[in-house]
This record gives sequence, structure tokens and C-alpha cells, in this order.
Amino acid sequence: MNHNHHLKAVLFDMDGVLFNSMPYHAEAWYSTLKNHGLYFKPEETYLHEGRTAAGTINIVYQRQYGKDATPEEVRQLYAEKTEAFGRHPQPLPIEGVSELLEQIKDEGLMRMVVTGSGQNDLLERLIHYFPGMFTRDRMITAFETKIGKPNPEPYLMALEKGGLQPNEAVVIENAPLGVQSGVAAGIFTIAVNTGPLDGQVLLDAGADLLFPSMQALSRDWKKLYESSQ
Ligand code: MG
Repeated sequence: MNHNHHLKAVLFDMDGVLFNSMPYHAEAWYSTLKNHGLYFKPEETYLHEGRTAAGTINIVYQRQYGKDATPEEVRQLYAEKTEAFGRHPQPLPIEGVSELLEQIKDEGLMRMVVTGSGQNDLLERLIHYFPGMFTRDRMITAFETKIGKPNPEPYLMALEKGGLQPNEAVVIENAPLGVQSGVAAGIFTIAVNTGPLDGQVLLDAGADLLFPSMQALSRDWKKLYESSQ
């Protein structure tokens, strides 16, 4: 961030940024697709994170069969994937993120959540796990968006909802498609590599800064904040 920045708000992605839910998504996609004879590596979940379920399923179908899945096949696979995800324990906060949130709150910055997720229980758990940090009216979720990441739409909606200019916000993302979305919205975008991808993938997606963990970002946050005032 630089002197053109006047930071007022931090826009958080949810899966892989606030909650350590990605390993469960990866296992759920892998096992569901495997049960249907479809090839998919668990790590691919991280590359496609942010796509709609149909988007991910059709990439797998195109690769294997050279055609899209039918709407019924998409519905069936997504229902099974959701069930597989639900067999895992409840995801816990990403290590280091509560410490980061405390600093951001103390600085008087607005906190928003911008996620493609439509998991109502996770959205409610945000309020439970991070008391005083988030409110439902400062969230952009699958219920608000039409297009979703990597389109800039969700982050543009967050700017509008928060009454913010792009240079008054910063995005925190863990996934390449999420980084693309934040960058396309014209917002300074910090990538935190909380999964197994090569960090270069996040830089190639356009991230302005890359951190190897949430603890690392939390340690450097004060410096970043001061450079934005
Ligand atoms: Mg994410």
C-alpha cells in the first residue's frame, strides 16, 4: 500500500482465509467425483476455489468426456459433495486470523466478508467464532451475487455496500480466482497462501503482496496499516 491509499475497510474472503475449511472441501470433491468415476486431484480444489459447483464439475466433464454435465448430473454431484463436506467436523478459524482481526478492529477499520459460499451455518458461525467482528449486513455471499469470482462483481458490491472507493479498501484472499476478482475490482489485494498451492500461482493471478501464512500477515499488519494512512 502507498500514500494514495486511505485505508478504511478490510474485505475478507471466508474459506481458507477466516475458516480452515478448504481441506474438507478438497476431500469432499475428490471422494464424490471418484465415486462417479471422475478423475480429480484434491489439490485441484484450491485452483478452482471460488467457481460455482457447476463450473468445477463441467471442467472435469469437459476434460474427461469432452462435454458439459447435464443439469441433473450437476445437481446430483453437488448434493453428494455437500453431504460429504457435512460429514467432516465443523471447520475452525485459520490460525493467526483472530490476532489479525483484533488489530484491524483496534484501528477502527470496517470488516466485511466477501464469499461465494452459500453455507448458512458457516455464515452464522462467523458471528459466533469472531465475536464483534462481523455483521450480516456487511457480508456479500452467494445470496447476494449473480456472477461470482473471478468476476469483480462480489468485490464491487462490497465497495458499494460499504460506501467505499477502491483505494479505501484492501482484499485478503487465499485463492487465485479470488485474487483475480479483487484485482479486477481495482482493490489492493493481499494473497495469503494457506493451502498447498505454489505461491507463484497467487502472484500470477495478480496479487499485490503474498504472505506464506496468516500469522505472517498478522505480524506485518501494523507496518502495512501505517503505510496506508
Ligand atoms: Mg478462499
